[in-house]
Amino acid sequence: MSTKIFLSEEDLPKQWYNLAADLPTPMQPPLGPDGNPISPEMLAPVFPMNLVEQEVSQERWIDIPEPIRELLLRWRPSPLHRAVHLEKALGTPARIYYKNESVSPAGSHKPNTAVAQAWYNKEFGIKRLTTETGAGQWGSALSFACSLIGLECKVFMVRISFDQKPFRKVMMQTWGGRCVPSPSEETQAGRDILDKHPDTPGSLGIAISEAIEAAVTDESGQTRYSLGSVLNHVMLHQTVIGLEAQKQLAVAGEKKPDIVIGCAGGGSNFAGLAFPFVNDKINGADIEIIPVEPASCPTMTRAPFVYDHGDIAKMTPLMPMHSLGHAFVPPPIHAGGLRYHGMAPLVSQAAVEGLITPEAIQQLDCYEAALLFAKTEGMIVAPETSHAVAMAIQKAKQAKEEAKEKVIIFNLSGHGLMDLNGYDAFMSGKLFNYSLPQEDMDESLQALKGHPAAEIGKTGKW
Ligand SMILES: *Cc1c(COP(=O)(O)O)cnc(C)c1O
Repeated sequence: MSTKIFLSEEDLPKQWYNLAADLPTPMQPPLGPDGNPISPEMLAPVFPMNLVEQEVSQERWIDIPEPIRELLLRWRPSPLHRAVHLEKALGTPARIYYKNESVSPAGSHKPNTAVAQAWYNKEFGIKRLTTETGAGQWGSALSFACSLIGLECKVFMVRISFDQKPFRKVMMQTWGGRCVPSPSEETQAGRDILDKHPDTPGSLGIAISEAIEAAVTDESGQTRYSLGSVLNHVMLHQTVIGLEAQKQLAVAGEKKPDIVIGCAGGGSNFAGLAFPFVNDKINGADIEIIPVEPASCPTMTRAPFVYDHGDIAKMTPLMPMHSLGHAFVPPPIHAGGLRYHGMAPLVSQAAVEGLITPEAIQQLDCYEAALLFAKTEGMIVAPETSHAVAMAIQKAKQAKEEAKEKVIIFNLSGHGLMDLNGYDAFMSGKLFNYSLPQEDMDESLQALKGHPAAEIGKTGKW
């Protein structure tokens, strides 16, 4: 029995899988400020038209341009591991597999979409990309991608992370990215905030506003904005993960997984692994598919499915999604990448349909699982990823109680070597569990007042 399943370079997928083509209830369109569906042209100042076309595509399979496959080949196909040492420690009859996305140069799944987005922008004649980053993972992935393609990259990094996580900034600079703390003096949005609150720690919402402003105000027309999660085309680019995993499970002799797990912030690494299996499920396969979120930021498990903005400054269109309200200020848990108020519309619609069944886990349970994983399998996973590890362990224990040989696969979305202060805080007893209090949630949901209602479309089959 092999504990690692590698694919050859020819096995790197030649097409991405688009779940929008197969959802039994069609996606509802994004809406403009007037409540009417937005036209693709309205997105043109922000994104290049070739990506806008992907964003609205209903094609099931979309060809991956050969130059993008060549970029992905720098680290893909990624290995699928069998977690035999974890299985032994748990004494479970379950077979646990994990797809190792930490092998990318930036250390997570994010370069899968970063190289694709950079390539499409370059094709469209764009010279410079702007973006925001919270913990720094997306900023480093995009800086890496831009350095391969030959684009300038400017990253607005939330001030508090900029100060607390200096090494992510160094990674960005090493790849030629320019990283500025947000709010900055470089945009009107930034200057306005600094005037009123010179000592603000910043927020993802402010950083998004700055990055969009910097893109749309470039008079040369050669700057666009790039987003690392949430949008349909980002989910699409990540499906190489699940398409490879399907081949690898077959090589391992597994007919199908029983349980598929991914942590969910904006939804992209989960979607990347899960959507090809959601397709199998739509076609009759019996698979439990679980996105896992923090109990402190319970977007899918507690928040409603509504039309909401993707950012606090309301610069994005209204999107149909699970949302805690665009003004939600997340508590400072250590899984920085899971602290987003919304959820990808495609992931949200799959949850509404019942094709996927979200769960929330407490921070301490996640770190405990991450330590067990590190001591058995060896790898120190990202705090975000620890949510998937904790759910896999929970399901493996359940399989033991029921004496069932379940096949479990989870996405190891990234390593945690740049996030060791979270581990340090856990091991020195400084972390605590935190469920979002109902009254705080009710208050943040006030931001949804006046938004058009999103239809709860479901067939009732799942
Ligand atoms: C950014 C990030 C996440 C969360 O983002 P998604 O879009 O939900 O995948 C999860 N894990 C890692 C390692 C990340 O860098």
